[in-house]
Amino acid sequence: MSSMTTPRTLDPAIQQRAAELFTQHQRQIYVRTDRLFAALMMLQWLAGIAAAFWLSPRTWTGPISQTHLHVWAAVVLGGAITGVPVLMVFSFPGAAVTRQAIAIGQMLTSALLIHLTGGRIETHFHVFGSLAFLAVYRDWRVLVTATIVVATDHLLRGIFWPQSVYGVLSASWFRTLEHASWVLFEDVILIFAIYQSNLEMWEIAARRAELEATNVRIENTVAERTAELRARETELKRAKQIAEAASRAKSEFLANMSHEIRTPLNGVVGMTELALDTQLNSAQREYLNTVKSCADSLLTVINDILDFSKIEAGKLSMEQISFDLPELLGNTCKTLGLRAHQKGLELACRVPADVPEFIVGDPGRLRQVIVNLVGNAVKFTKQGEVVVQVELRSRNDRSVNLHFTVTDTGIGISPEKQSIIFHAFEQADTSTTRTYGGNGLGLAISSKLIELMGGKIWVESELGRGSTFHFSADFGISNEAGKQKLYDAQLLKNVRALVVDDNDTN
Ligand code: ADP
Repeated sequence: MSSMTTPRTLDPAIQQRAAELFTQHQRQIYVRTDRLFAALMMLQWLAGIAAAFWLSPRTWTGPISQTHLHVWAAVVLGGAITGVPVLMVFSFPGAAVTRQAIAIGQMLTSALLIHLTGGRIETHFHVFGSLAFLAVYRDWRVLVTATIVVATDHLLRGIFWPQSVYGVLSASWFRTLEHASWVLFEDVILIFAIYQSNLEMWEIAARRAELEATNVRIENTVAERTAELRARETELKRAKQIAEAASRAKSEFLANMSHEIRTPLNGVVGMTELALDTQLNSAQREYLNTVKSCADSLLTVINDILDFSKIEAGKLSMEQISFDLPELLGNTCKTLGLRAHQKGLELACRVPADVPEFIVGDPGRLRQVIVNLVGNAVKFTKQGEVVVQVELRSRNDRSVNLHFTVTDTGIGISPEKQSIIFHAFEQADTSTTRTYGGNGLGLAISSKLIELMGGKIWVESELGRGSTFHFSADFGISNEAGKQKLYDAQLLKNVRALVVDDNDTN
C-alpha cells in the first residue's frame, strides 16, 4: 500500500520512518475496527434471534406445535457465523485473517437476516450497510472478499432457493446480476474513498517523520552548540585562572622585589646620613647629599610599588587606631613646608573648630594620601600657595565623615586628563613627567586608600590657574576625653589679638 500511496520523494531514512508510522497507524485502525465489529456482530446475532421469535416463533403439524426452524437457525447458524470471527478478534486482533473472517461472517449474517425475514428486499440494505462499515478498515481486500461471498450466496440461493433470498418462488438469474452490480457500484466508491484516506494517512506519516528528523537535527545542533559553549567556557575559565595566577605572581614578585630592594636601600640612606654627620670636605658633602636625595626618591618609588602591589593583591589592611587629626596635619605640613619654602611657596593648613580632634582610623595611610596630594601640589606649582583644609560633612554618635581639600595655584589639569590621572601609571602630560618627575602611581594608590577609608577622591582644576583635589573619608570618633582642645573657639572669645602675616590664607 505504501508504495502505491507514496506521493513525493523523501530521504530514504525518512521514507522508512514514514512507512513505520503508516503501518503503526494502520494497525491501530485494524484493531479498533475489529473490536467494533465484534460488538456489532454480537448485537446482530441477538437481533436475528429476536426477529425469528417475533416473526415465526412456532410451527404447526396438525394440532402439535413446536419451535420454528427459523428460531433454531437464528440461534445455531447465527451463533456459528458470529462466534468464529468474534473469537478471532480476541485471539488475533489486527491480523489480516481476522478482518477477512469478519468480512465473511458479516456478509453471511446479512444472508441469514434476509432469509429470516423471508427475502424482504429492505433487508438487502444490510448488505450495503455492512460493506460501508467494512470500508472503515481502509483495506480494499476486505471488500473483495465480502463481495465474493455476497455474490456467491445470491447466485446459489437465487438458483436453488429463490424464496429465501428474493421472497419469490422463482427468480431470473438477471436479478442476481442486478444485485451484484449495485454491490460493485458501492465497492468502486468505497475503494476510491479508501485510496484517498490512505493517501492522507501516508501524508500525515511522512510529515511526522520529517518533523521527527528535524527535531533530531535541532537537538543535535543544540547539543553541539552546548558542547562548544561548554568547551569555550572551560577554556575561558582556564585562561582566567592562568591570567589571575600570572597577575598574582606579578604582584607577589613586585611586592617581594620592592621589599628586597627597600631593605638595602634603607641601609644606603642610613649610612649616608651617618657619613654626612662626619667631618667632610665640601665636595664629599655635596656627593653624599646627592646620594641621599637619589636614595630618598628611589625609596619613594619602591614604597609606591610595594603599596600598589599590595593593594592589587588585596593584601592591604587598614589600621583602626585613635589619633590627633590637627597634630597629624600640622606635622605633615611642617615636613612638606620645607620643600614648599625652598620653591618660594606658601603652605597653609586649616582645621575648623567643629572637626573632632581625636578620630579613629589609619593615621599612616591618611598621612600618605596628604603627603602625596600636597607633594603633587608643591611639585606642579611654580608660584603662589598650597592650602590644606578639612571640614566636617556629617557626624553621628559613632563616626564622622570628613572632607579634605588640597588647593594649589599651579599648572592645572585639562578636563580630559582629570579622569585618567587616578588610574595607575597615568600622567596628565608625559612631557611634564620629564620636567616634574614621578611614576604615575601616587594618585592611583591614594584613590584606593581613600576607597578603603569609605570615601572617594575627585579633582576640580583649570589649566594654568591651579587645582583642588577633594577627598572624603569616614572615621570613628575617639572617646579619648579630657584632652585639651587646641582649636576651641571658646578660648579665644572676647580676646583681642593682632595677627601679622604676609599670607591671606593664614
Ligand atoms: P606622579 O605625580 O608620580 O606623576 P600621580 O599619580 O601622583 O603621579 O599624578 C598623576 C598625574 O596627575 C601627574 O603626573 C600630573 O600630570 C597630574 N597631577 C597630579 N597632581 C597635580 C597637580 N596638583 N597639578 C597639576 N597636575 C597634577
